[in-house]
Amino acid sequence: MIVIDPGHSGRSITSTDQATGLRDIDYPNYPEIYEMFDVSYCVAQGLRADGYRVVLTKKRAMASVGLAKRAEIATQSRADLAISVHNDHSQGPHFQATYDQRGRRDPDGGYHAMYRGTGAKRTVFDHPKLARQSQRYARIIARARTETQGRPVGVRENSFTGRPPLEPGNLALVQLLAEVPWVYNEMGALTGGDVSTAISIPTEVRYAQGLLLGIERAVPLAAGVVDQPSPGFRGLRRCLVKRVEPRAGVYTRPKAYLPDGFAR
Ligand SMILES: [Zn+2]
Repeated sequence: MIVIDPGHSGRSITSTDQATGLRDIDYPNYPEIYEMFDVSYCVAQGLRADGYRVVLTKKRAMASVGLAKRAEIATQSRADLAISVHNDHSQGPHFQATYDQRGRRDPDGGYHAMYRGTGAKRTVFDHPKLARQSQRYARIIARARTETQGRPVGVRENSFTGRPPLEPGNLALVQLLAEVPWVYNEMGALTGGDVSTAISIPTEVRYAQGLLLGIERAVPLAAGVVDQPSPGFRGLRRCLVKRVEPRAGVYTRPKAYLPDGFAR
């Protein structure tokens, strides 16, 4: 069982997680919200074609689901692995990352707390076994993405400190609140010096390929790792094109955010 979490919410959300008191904040982010829903949807279709069960945390690109709710969906699905799928239009394509729930090692060789919030709200991810699993999976996914994207993908630790109103700390809220191994993915997507320029379909395909390969290597089926290129892998390009233009001349995104090669 794989849970795929497409980045961002169709409307701005400012709520509070009842269990921890942490602020649960998300917002629409264009064109990321369209691109990453399509990548997530097609990776889900590909995994299903290869024999996996998959749940998406959002049903439509513009659906609004809070971060605590996304974590709950993954926990209740008893996901073997959850992944978040993001890209960052403020960062160039040299920026490629996976983030796990264990974090980077300190100079003394130990690991520090992975957390969000301050004072009484400070909440620590305290599941050492899941943290180790997620780190192993983050490395596998980073290697697979490096192969398909043709750029080095690093396993990193996030920082939300000094970014109010976000809670300070070093772990995405979905990863903190879930009780499953979770790998958060980022891909630098700044093209042509303009943060609103959509990425191309080939760029989406390479990201989707790396995610699918990485997931299948990290969490093999009972019958073993699927031979590649699998039916799911081969269907990604067609799926991604169809997501943008399901019928000739009919587009699923505002024209301003269509990838290169589609009518504007
Ligand atoms: Zn994002």
